[in-house]
Amino acid sequence: MINSVDFTNKDQSYKTVFFETFGCQMNKLDAELSLGLLQEEGYKIVDKVDEADVILFNTCSVRQHAEDKVYSHLGALKTLKKRHPEVIVGVLGCMAQKDGEAIFKRMPHVDLVCGTRMFSRLPEMLLKIRNHGSHVLAIDEDQIVNVKRAVTYRPNFYQAFVTVMRGCDNYCSYCIVPYVRGREISRTIADVKEEVQSLVSNGCKEVTLLGQNINSYGKGLGGNVTLGDLLSELNDVEGLDRIRFVTSHPADISHDLIRTISHLEKVCEYLHMPAQSGSDEVLKRMRRGYTAGYYRDLISYTRELISHITVASDFIVGFPGETEEDFQKTVRLMEDIRFQNCFIFKYSPRTGTKAAELKDDVPDEIKRERNIKLLGLQKRISLEENTKMIGKEVDVLVEGASKSDPNRFSGRTRQNHIVVFNGSQELVGKLVDVVVHEVTDLTLFGKLTSCI
Ligand code: SF4
Repeated sequence: MINSVDFTNKDQSYKTVFFETFGCQMNKLDAELSLGLLQEEGYKIVDKVDEADVILFNTCSVRQHAEDKVYSHLGALKTLKKRHPEVIVGVLGCMAQKDGEAIFKRMPHVDLVCGTRMFSRLPEMLLKIRNHGSHVLAIDEDQIVNVKRAVTYRPNFYQAFVTVMRGCDNYCSYCIVPYVRGREISRTIADVKEEVQSLVSNGCKEVTLLGQNINSYGKGLGGNVTLGDLLSELNDVEGLDRIRFVTSHPADISHDLIRTISHLEKVCEYLHMPAQSGSDEVLKRMRRGYTAGYYRDLISYTRELISHITVASDFIVGFPGETEEDFQKTVRLMEDIRFQNCFIFKYSPRTGTKAAELKDDVPDEIKRERNIKLLGLQKRISLEENTKMIGKEVDVLVEGASKSDPNRFSGRTRQNHIVVFNGSQELVGKLVDVVVHEVTDLTLFGKLTSCI
């Protein structure tokens, strides 16, 4: 644990940091917050390890592959660290929380292991290592993270992610998140609103609220505060055009919330709500707390109230005991709901979770086959749904030059479609109307009609 040390004597000699992030959007935002803090301390961000005084990996534990990659990156730094022992090497985030001290044993050249709820103290930890030459292990679980954000540091000027809660109390049987991110803790509406207002004063037009289980927002705050209350407050923020929120859990999202968002004009018509499987047997073993029928009814209810909403999902194939019949139920769910897009993962056990106690009995080859089948099906559905958009006018928040064609511009609709169109630099950050004339499964292509 981090000890009490006098950090007032600021050291100006460590000034460059290399920072690599793995994993989910929450991790990317933690990276943004950490880099904001470090920049305020005078650090310059560099993109090469050999130019850095401090090398930090912000890690993910959701899949073994992500952890292996970090250990391999750390291993590759042994020689550099031998030549330059003054360089600080640190591991942050989920893997740091999960493996703790074991990281020092496996990689003795690592100086810092900083868990998921301690990164707001990053500058002082680096100073402690520098001044005292000691390893720092900081994995307290009950530290509440309410990071004062440097609003001027964010990758996209017009869009920002905002953490509204951390942790998860659901304990789905396959998921490591509750063990590495801890129990659910929500920020107050006042805190979140203040952050959003300062982002908007700094030019931001769209915010995406983040929470591992965002429909539980408000639990523990007292007074029955809900996500609907937060969204209603933010809907009144002047100058803000759009609000999104992820990730929704089918068992926790309420009809009340759906009714509320159907009346809030700034909340975008897009729901990321992972179904994970179409088989009730598998859902039960996953401890998801709903059935496929419940999921279908929820989507019907949502579409009744918000007809043009798009829905995205995650699926896991090859979960322990998943039969061909179970898999076909997932295929049917996908065909019936017609998701806008889906993230599809092959199951791999994570030590410490309940599912890791089950026999991982679906052969890898079958997992791969099912993964390919679902990806193909989703590609077909996405293309068919996008084709229906041809000839329609869509409103787009312009994000910048298109990655595939720098002569064109790209942005997103409220329903989260990516749109590429003719445009100009001065449209970036503005809402424009575009008529769609061509599509792929991933992108709509169109022509600008007006700027709002
Ligand atoms: S809801 Fe389930 S899958 Fe999502 S973070 Fe919590 S435990 Fe993991």
